[in-house]
Amino acid sequence: AVRLMEVCGTHTMTAFRSGLRSLLPENVSLLSGPGCPVCVTPQECIDRIIAIAKLPGTLVTTFGDMLRVPGGEESLEAARAEGAGVMAVYSPTDALEEAKKNPDTRIVFFGVGFETTAPATAWTIKEAARLGVENFSVLCAHKTMPRAMAALLRGGEVNIDGLMCPGHVSVITGTRIFDFLSGEHGRPCVVAGFEPLDMALATEMLLRQIERGRAEVENEYHRSVDAEGNPAARALIEEVFEPCEAEWRGMGAIEGSGLRIRDRFARHDAAKIFGDLDLPETVVTPGCICGDVIRGARVPTQCALFRKTCTPATPVGACMVSAEGTCAAYYKYAGRERDK
Ligand code: SF4
Repeated sequence: AVRLMEVCGTHTMTAFRSGLRSLLPENVSLLSGPGCPVCVTPQECIDRIIAIAKLPGTLVTTFGDMLRVPGGEESLEAARAEGAGVMAVYSPTDALEEAKKNPDTRIVFFGVGFETTAPATAWTIKEAARLGVENFSVLCAHKTMPRAMAALLRGGEVNIDGLMCPGHVSVITGTRIFDFLSGEHGRPCVVAGFEPLDMALATEMLLRQIERGRAEVENEYHRSVDAEGNPAARALIEEVFEPCEAEWRGMGAIEGSGLRIRDRFARHDAAKIFGDLDLPETVVTPGCICGDVIRGARVPTQCALFRKTCTPATPVGACMVSAEGTCAAYYKYAGRERDK
């Protein structure tokens, strides 16, 4: 049997929505890996941003999906119901505008996402520094994908024969960033777009490489992606952030897989501004197997809470909260899919 893995929330949803997985031969599986940024953000990070939101004179801003992700004791949404300062925004620049309008309030943007969203956060931090908006800061939980993919391969828990690389990330990074996955780790990689046909073609390209014993990085999404990516966006990331070890839900700490705000922008780094905070103990929600789902080791239907206590209306774990989460995808499309 051949096991392929995609590591992108949009690929997860396209594969389910289009029924692509059910069209694959019985001996080919398409697994979903750690591609949903909301899902991989660890509990400690959620608890930290909730603690900041509870401080007087502070307003936390972030993407809507993050509000319902459970922390150790509650979610940002629940904290807001108790009076904490929390607001959903569409972009970090919205958060900066809020800071300009409310100079007496400390506006903190919770920056979550991969290489796709990191440039916008970087630009906003630079802009805040340029304009001297001292009440604006970012709690940075941005992550980068290649090292997490390598960690999955190294871990060896799930035998992955080929990787469908994320198109959005690759628009920024270029395809070259995945070379070490085929070189050092010997796995075929194909960068794929987001239409069902893109994913079908990428699947075929992966299978052909496997059949012929090749391990290369190929690009199915060449209408948007080239080898180098977007140099301006990459330069922005490089200027504002530096690589650091980052904690991933279900995967633990991965060296070089996170982005930390460089010291020259420390005035806008919420991790430094707010320092040590009193956080609840990290607990694993009893019964929730989100970590296994994120690593592709188990599927949501193997979770005893799936569709029972855990639904999109009452999510127990992060993978059910996010619209791009694997559990949410299974919930919405199960029955039209083979569970494999
Ligand atoms: Fe966690 Fe719910 Fe998914 Fe089970 S179904 S793994 S409880 S998010």
